[in-house]
Formats: sequence, structure tokens, C-alpha cells
Amino acid sequence: MDSFLDLIFIPKCMFCSVMGRYICSTCLAKMKTLSEEYCVVCGKESENGITHSRCRSSGTPSQLYSAFEYTSLVRAVIKRSKYKSKEFLGLKIITELAAELCKEELSKFTSYVVIPIPVSAIRLKDRGFNQVETIVKVISKRNGNKVKLGLLKRITDSIAQYSNTRKERFANVSGVFEVEKSQKNLVADQKFLLVDDICTSGATLLEASKVLYKYGAKDVKCFALSKKL
Ligand SMILES: [Zn+2]
Ligand SMILES: [Zn+2]
Repeated sequence: MDSFLDLIFIPKCMFCSVMGRYICSTCLAKMKTLSEEYCVVCGKESENGITHSRCRSSGTPSQLYSAFEYTSLVRAVIKRSKYKSKEFLGLKIITELAAELCKEELSKFTSYVVIPIPVSAIRLKDRGFNQVETIVKVISKRNGNKVKLGLLKRITDSIAQYSNTRKERFANVSGVFEVEKSQKNLVADQKFLLVDDICTSGATLLEASKVLYKYGAKDVKCFALSKKL
């Protein structure tokens, strides 16, 4: 029976194996949404993730909005999208849910150009994709934003961040981003929505934001599919 069902491609839930959808509605309901938003600079709670006025300086994003807590099922979907070969369907499904849950906030950013946090050239060569582009595509399609996939690039390889201290994370990403040469004149007076799959310390988003402001960006906001608490 199994082989017959495999033949006609009825998807099974990646978590509970129920037939019908790659993530079934029961498991989708278990994705933990954030109950608070946080300032990208100090990591403390802030209304709608707006950067505290005491935390703002010339290179900081004005807001960070995140959809889910980086835990349990959300973490499993994100991990699979990175390390298993092109397993984007789960990521696409939870991003669609995120876009629905955050639609009110996202609708305020329709004039923002959406850009993904890039992966390093080595990782890109290794994997052949940047999973964050999947999130960018879903969000921009639903919200009607312009997208610039190649505007920001990673110029050096930072070491994987999982076990670093906060201080080390900031040192780690210092100087890793640059605007693509041919796009430098497209940054001035533009508003950008930087997108990432996980926000941990905020170091990556802050560093990328700094580079955009350096070339004259008018405003930078951030959207993270998940936030590590
Ligand atoms: Zn399920
Ligand atoms: Zn703050």
C-alpha cells in the first residue's frame, strides 16, 4: 500500500506522517509564535520590535519584526532547509503562515525593497542555494514588495555562530558584508527590509544594516522568520 501511495505522490507530514500535506494543520498549529517583539540592538522587549530611542545610532535598523520563536518544530523546519538537500517545502509552508500572522505589520513595509541576508560564497557553492531566498520570495509575493537578491554579498566567511558568546558573535560578523559593485548606486534614498531565517544576537542584521546605511539607505527594517530567545 505504501508503495502505491508513494507512486501517486500524496505528501506525508514531515513530523507526524499523516497523509495530505508536507506539514499537516495539527503540526502547523504547534509552531510557536512570538508573544513579544524585541529591540535588535539590546535584545530587550520593545513595542513591535521598534529599536529603542536610546539604542538608535546612524547605522542601526529602525525595527526588527519576528514571527516565530526559534524552538521545536520551527527549528526543525529551518534546520532541514539548511542541511538537507533543497528541502524548501517546509520552509515555504511556515513562511506562508508567518506572512499571514504578520500581515498587518508587513503591510506597513510595502515600499521597502526586500533583501536576504546572503550566505558565504563557499557555503553557496557547497549547498547551491541560500534558503533565506525562499522566505524573501514568499513574503515579497504576498506583500507586493520589490526584491533585490544580489544586492548584498558576504565578502568573508565567518565561523558558524552556534556556540559563541554575544561579544564573539559581533566580532565574528564585523566587515563580512558589502554591497555588490554594480548595485552601489541603487542604495541611496531607498528603504530596505532585511530578511533572515533566524535572529540570534542581532549581530548579523546590525552589520548588514550598517553597510546599507553607508551607501545612503534611507531606512532599514528587519524581518526574521524566527527569533532565538
Ligand atoms: Zn503533522
Ligand atoms: Zn534596545
